[in-house]
Amino acid sequence: MQITENILRKDTDIDKELQSLNAEQYDAVVTLDRPLLVLSGAGTGKTKVLTTKIAYIIENGFAFPSQILAVTFSNRAAREMKERLFGITSSAMGVWLGTFHSICAKILRSHAEAVGISRDFTILDADDQLKVVKQILKEMNIDAKAAPGIVAKISRWKDKGISPDNPSVDKTTQEGRVYKVYQERIVSYDSVDFGDLLLYVVQIFKENPDILQTYRNRFKYILVDEYQDTNVAQYLWLRMLSPLGQGLCCVGDDDQAIYSWRGAEVGNILRFEKDFPNTKTVRLEQNYRSTGHILGAAASLISNNQMRLGKTIWTADGDGDKVIVQRVYNGYEEAQVVSEKIEQLHRKYDLDYKNAAVLVRAGFQTREFEERFIANGIPYKVVGGLKFYDRQEIKDIVAYMRLIYQPNDSLAFERIVNVPKRGIGASAVAKFYTVASEKNISLYLAAKDILEHETLRPSLKHSLDEFIKFIESMRLRHDLKSADIARIILDETGYAEALKQEKTLESQARLENLKELLQALEEFEDLPSFIEHISLVMDSPKTEEDNVVSIMTLHSAKGLEFDAVFLGGWEDGVFPHNLSIQEGNVEEERRLAYVGITRARKLTFITYALNRKIHNQWQANMPSRFLSELSPEHITHITGRSGCFS
Ligand code: ATP
Ligand code: MG
Repeated sequence: MQITENILRKDTDIDKELQSLNAEQYDAVVTLDRPLLVLSGAGTGKTKVLTTKIAYIIENGFAFPSQILAVTFSNRAAREMKERLFGITSSAMGVWLGTFHSICAKILRSHAEAVGISRDFTILDADDQLKVVKQILKEMNIDAKAAPGIVAKISRWKDKGISPDNPSVDKTTQEGRVYKVYQERIVSYDSVDFGDLLLYVVQIFKENPDILQTYRNRFKYILVDEYQDTNVAQYLWLRMLSPLGQGLCCVGDDDQAIYSWRGAEVGNILRFEKDFPNTKTVRLEQNYRSTGHILGAAASLISNNQMRLGKTIWTADGDGDKVIVQRVYNGYEEAQVVSEKIEQLHRKYDLDYKNAAVLVRAGFQTREFEERFIANGIPYKVVGGLKFYDRQEIKDIVAYMRLIYQPNDSLAFERIVNVPKRGIGASAVAKFYTVASEKNISLYLAAKDILEHETLRPSLKHSLDEFIKFIESMRLRHDLKSADIARIILDETGYAEALKQEKTLESQARLENLKELLQALEEFEDLPSFIEHISLVMDSPKTEEDNVVSIMTLHSAKGLEFDAVFLGGWEDGVFPHNLSIQEGNVEEERRLAYVGITRARKLTFITYALNRKIHNQWQANMPSRFLSELSPEHITHITGRSGCFS
């Protein structure tokens, strides 16, 4: 009975879904025999086409789920795609759906030895990268201030598929020299960074035609969302998997290309028809997300860009509310105005908090909103900012887990070898470093080596011995679930006890966070699956945070939608960002503004402040140039709350 019901439900779901499509969308979904490009504006159903297409392929038996590869841009977008897909079909288990990075991590785990690393490699996050570079700079007697810039430069090289030995990397420059040492160093740690995930897989494919062939045979259908923001490395990867574009479907919007600063090449989408002969290109024009004034305002803004294909979008939804542009006195008042508006919509019109978002240009802008929301009791989360897994205590315990999983993970080792304090101080660590670099081994192995062969101060010898014994004993405990491992770490290392003794508000909060970690760990069967997750999840909101206002940068809002969207800080210098004004790259900022406005279903609310404190300095900036580009017929301009500023 149950089975019959399921089959019936599935069939009607996909049928219903197909019937809801307009003619062009339907065409895009059922075209399977040619390379397919869907190039169209925001909210026209590109992502919907992708998810429906996957369901259509599976339900009609054109391929097994495991023969479908679907890639998207961020973890959050991947999650949303998964939800939409499982909303249409319950048979999608096994589809390779994820970000470029997560898919590559999965492939690399199977073939790591082909590029000389072990399958247990760890994935470095941005913070880890920074630490490695800082360490190298220290060894080279260079000021650590240069580190963030060098990390960015290395990442850009990797986005372009450029390795340290590539002739275009100038070895006479500081950056070029550090890049080479950096790469050797992370290889010796058995680690990879995000850029490596793609590059290694491309290298494996290049050097091992048999491996490449197995993946070409496997993936009958490859679908890519947000194609306008793929970088060179991602593009190479796709072309290797699908040289003729058979079964390939890419969707995107050149007006939403916002990652050129991270190596994205909008040219990839514009070149698609040339790359893959016999391409079918579908353009979608009906927008199903936003009401008319929102679309009109967005269209008038983006028409100021010179470098664009140009497209029409219309909605059958009616005009709706005009976009509100409100002038405020400063950031404090801005947060107040937004907070009140959200509260008002929540009370009067039943707006769910989760259907509201505050989108900002730069990370520093979130704080004032956060403080106001806390004061007014509005639940919120910061998506993509300093969050749960970035907190010190969480990183400490995760470092223990990483070290148990992979003792050669020297960053993890260094982080916790003296946490909580056990008398293994900086001089001991310096010694580990010396031996590690002499013998070209990890810090952990160096510490073991020293313990065995050198005479140490008794107290240091004892602590080190205990520490290594603890790690070794945990490594043998394959019977433990990941939450149990964390519990043992907290108890046996004295980490939890030390926090309890501290008895401050902060230590209380840290203990609570650790409890939260144990809860999160329950979801993972074993240590490897948790380690894999933690390395890839950059923006995971906690489950109980579901019905909350999202605060995030415009960049991370791509592909998402909300009933009400609040765009703060529309002042020249803030948005468009100062740097892009100086570099003459305002078009990308305008696309970012276009992305922001078009996230809204019903209300777009823009604020600009007469004064703003930036890095502790008051500034009085001009209203954003983008404001004057919004066609007045779609705008309501409010120039002061109580009239006192008008
Ligand atoms: P973006 O460019 O912002 O990524 P998109 O083109 O991917 O947008 P979707 O997110 O797929 O657009 O669709 C926007 C909204 O419109 C979604 O809520 C989707 O469910 C809805 N939608 C799309 N097509 C239809 C349709 N034919 N009928 C009803 N709703 C639709
Ligand atoms: Mg989309």
